[in-house]
Amino acid sequence: MSNTSALRIVWIYPDLLSTYGDQGNVLILKRRAELRGIPTEVVRVNSSDHVPEQGDIYLLGGGEDRPQILAAERLRADGGLARAAARGACVFAVCAGYQIIGETYGDDEANPLPGVGILDIRSGRGESRAVGEIVADIDPALGGGRITGFENHQGRTAIGPSARPLSTTVVGTGNDGHTEGAYQGQVLGTYLHGPALPRNPHLADLLLSWRVGRIAPLQPSWGERLHEERLAAALRQ
Ligand code: GLN
Repeated sequence: MSNTSALRIVWIYPDLLSTYGDQGNVLILKRRAELRGIPTEVVRVNSSDHVPEQGDIYLLGGGEDRPQILAAERLRADGGLARAAARGACVFAVCAGYQIIGETYGDDEANPLPGVGILDIRSGRGESRAVGEIVADIDPALGGGRITGFENHQGRTAIGPSARPLSTTVVGTGNDGHTEGAYQGQVLGTYLHGPALPRNPHLADLLLSWRVGRIAPLQPSWGERLHEERLAAALRQ
């Protein structure tokens, strides 16, 4: 990474964890930073590469059961993501990515496997797949607001005492039918695909503000329209 003043966005394992257009999270963070005049640098880290430790925001997407296991094994062996989180970097992880940054997660036969251990959550396998639109209300301690997304997962997640639920589920399942996602410091995970940040520009701005401090609001644009449109569609169900 050459430009030391740029906001460094590290996209972890697009070769294993990138279902449902999770790349959109990378693009929207970059775009919303640059609209505020904040230069960015995107570092794409495949599963054969080392995870750099000096990033600002690390992004992990969703994945199927087997690639998820491989991703967890490689992240644990590499150690770069855990060291970055220990340094206070922001991590935004979706679905399979969310499960594997926790303490344990369930494999395709429900055996518990060790995660990266940077978020105090434990995921197991549910009785049924949770599939469909999801709506949830963000913890007021994070500024509140509604988030919407698409979920497709077998896993169910319990939150330990060091983490807090990201939101309260209004429509859909999320962690357990009651809460959705979790956060601990600047490590935040969610079941929301869609992708999550283009569908929820205020969530993208929350992550940016964690790294760069107060940021100017942007004129509402297509992102806010998409948010309203998906919210109305999910609530109509
Ligand atoms: N394989 C995991 C599960 O089914 C995560 C799925 C996903 O990332 N969409 O729970």
